[in-house]
Amino acid sequence: MSISSKVLLNIRLHIGRILPAQPCILCGAASRERAWCDACDAALPYLPSAHCPQCALPTHDGAVCGHCLRHPPSFDRTIAAFAYNFPVDKLVQALKFNERLTLAHSLAQPLAQRIEVRPDGIVPMPLHPARLRERGFNQSQELARHLARHLGVPLLPGVVQRVRDTLPQSGLPWKERRKNLRQAFVCGGEVVGKHIAIVDDVMTTGASLNELAKVLRAAGALEVSAWVVARTLPHSR
Ligand SMILES: [Zn+2]
Ligand SMILES: [Zn+2]
Repeated sequence: MSISSKVLLNIRLHIGRILPAQPCILCGAASRERAWCDACDAALPYLPSAHCPQCALPTHDGAVCGHCLRHPPSFDRTIAAFAYNFPVDKLVQALKFNERLTLAHSLAQPLAQRIEVRPDGIVPMPLHPARLRERGFNQSQELARHLARHLGVPLLPGVVQRVRDTLPQSGLPWKERRKNLRQAFVCGGEVVGKHIAIVDDVMTTGASLNELAKVLRAAGALEVSAWVVARTLPHSR
């Protein structure tokens, strides 16, 4: 390392140390590490370690759940950091609707820490261009960007396009959700033989992630992992 790059590194480390604390988004106490403080972090609803490896729903001793046994999803595994309960639901909604992009880093970090198998590429859940124009950014892409940088894995944002402007999944009865997504995605990238991780903020029924995984598999992906910040649990639906 040259002297000038050493000096630069030192300056950067120094700046890191003297960064002013920001108020915790949840309680207002000082926080340096992330958008919320350590005390609030300790109280967050982290996902129980015993959960279905395929869909992340809590199960006894981490066995595959009955639903995944009966209807195996198109993704091989789900990694989730949190249960979609208070206050994680508020944090995710703040990321989505208040454009608090600093939250993307804080929400992606605990997810990155749970990832043991590095994929070949990361694909964010695509938004339809009309939704993107309306919202101004894609929260899944923001999360994926942090994950890609943290893990040193390429981000492949243009591999899958959302070609149908579907109704918002959250406004539909569960049975309608799968139908709503038919032919919503088109894969135009090179994924043959690759392990692709798909990123979304929340998994509720898993219908969108399942449809996206199906499209990637049809295009030749060998393995698909679903990475989500939070998993909706049956009692919080
Ligand atoms: Zn706090
Ligand atoms: Zn399952």
